[in-house]
Amino acid sequence: MKAGCRLPAKRFHKHIWPVQPKPLYLNGEFIAADKTLSVRNPATGETIAQMSTCGRDHVAQALADAHAAFQSWRNVVGRTRGDFLLKIAVEVERRKDEFARTITLENGKPLAQSAGEVAMTIDHLRWFAEEARRGYGRVIPPQVEGKRHLVIKSPIGVVAAISPWNFPLVLAVRKVAAALAAGCTVVLKPASATPLCAVLFAECVHAANLPKGAFQLVAGSAAEIAAEFLENPLCRKITFTGSTEVGKKLIAGAAAQVKPLSLELGGHSPVLVFDDADLAKAVEGTMIAKYRNTGQSCIAANRIYVQRGLAEKFIAAFVERVKALKVGSGLEPGVDIGPLINPAAVDLAMKHIVDAQAKGAQLLCGGQRWGEAGSAFLQPTVLTGVPGASLGMCDETFAPVAYVNVFDTEAEAIARANDTTYGLAAYVFTHDLNRAFRLMESLEAGMIGINDGVPTTSNAPFGGVKQSGWGRELGSDGLDAFLDTKHVSLAL
Ligand code: NAP
Repeated sequence: MKAGCRLPAKRFHKHIWPVQPKPLYLNGEFIAADKTLSVRNPATGETIAQMSTCGRDHVAQALADAHAAFQSWRNVVGRTRGDFLLKIAVEVERRKDEFARTITLENGKPLAQSAGEVAMTIDHLRWFAEEARRGYGRVIPPQVEGKRHLVIKSPIGVVAAISPWNFPLVLAVRKVAAALAAGCTVVLKPASATPLCAVLFAECVHAANLPKGAFQLVAGSAAEIAAEFLENPLCRKITFTGSTEVGKKLIAGAAAQVKPLSLELGGHSPVLVFDDADLAKAVEGTMIAKYRNTGQSCIAANRIYVQRGLAEKFIAAFVERVKALKVGSGLEPGVDIGPLINPAAVDLAMKHIVDAQAKGAQLLCGGQRWGEAGSAFLQPTVLTGVPGASLGMCDETFAPVAYVNVFDTEAEAIARANDTTYGLAAYVFTHDLNRAFRLMESLEAGMIGINDGVPTTSNAPFGGVKQSGWGRELGSDGLDAFLDTKHVSLAL
């Protein structure tokens, strides 16, 4: 039994809270701790579970155990590492309904979207199961006689992963699967609002018999845990998804050890709809880009610009679709818009809505809280004529709030799209191939959807430019993020 923890290590087969808190997963053992945090259902505000937490000493132990596990995991051949990931994928698939329900309970999103998140998680696991075989190096032709040059790839070592609450399963597994595939061991700290699906995932890892210490789950004070990740030299890399504000703190903290970071940070994605676009496709794509996950997506459409010739028709069709969205608990059938993560998130969104109106924007629908006073629900909202200086045009509105503005020329659209410190995703709706090429080259974003409101896929790089982050996840880049490159010069 670990110091400070009171339960012996055993697998948990049932949800037994309130009798037992949900456990951490440390060095192959499920351990419930005395200190816990409350997990709430954002739709009702009720506490649904207690999650065990740990302090720095346990995190230090987890890193030491991960370091010990790394010595053998790094030498497991890629194909076998992939087989472990496949076993985890099979286990997640077997429990997919339980995962989806858990995501909806702790995060609030509609059940069908939770099921979509689970499906994407399984696909990521399968993708990295295959990628595990492909940590390719290369041979470079010599420049002088008698030399040979090899480039080889080695797993970077122990990885710390910090994940957010908005896609609590898929964004954590995206990191864990890639790190394990590369031959690294990994310690995961999920968001405090949504740790429950990470516990389920740990159960799947355990069921797949992954070697102990290769994957571990910690929870608790983010600042304390991150301090150990940053200061402990056994932790060789931190991979983080979350806000730009916290990303900047990690950059500062990583300086002392020049610790490598992968950062998936905030976004402020523009949508550009041109006169030549297919109206139905543009409306549909913008709806998904804006309202998926109740507007709480890093790649959500935050600023929608429509060319003048199509603006009236687009706005009418878009507002009609938004008015038809069903708001309610994510567990209710047919719901499109669930609660935000907590009532404070609604307060912040309301501040952006009120500010936009005060600065001259016109409200086309929504604009109010939904349900009981103090709840976490917000009506899906559309505003138009939103001045550039308003809060929501300068920073993410992490909520189902759309700002639709009109533009005249392509040059103006590009300038307005790029007029932000962020650069995560951008969306373009046009049928002009030449324009599509001009835009994909000039838009400052890591991901560009052309006539596509959902550009994320396991087999292509995901990440941002500017203050939206460093590095890429998914695709072959996702594996490379956890590999060191070594040049070997051989004199014959
Ligand atoms: P957040 O507040 O930055 O939290 C993200 C994670 O960081 C959580 O696990 C959190 O732990 C932890 N954290 C908080 N303070 C920390 C600190 N001082 N040091 C280290 N870790 C710390 O972000 P969020 O509110 O959960 O997520 C929303 C943001 O994430 C938005 O800006 C969104 O755009 C961005 N995001 C980006 C991507 C992407 O791929 N680029 C994807 C999804 C979301 P606690 O929960 O315990 O506080």
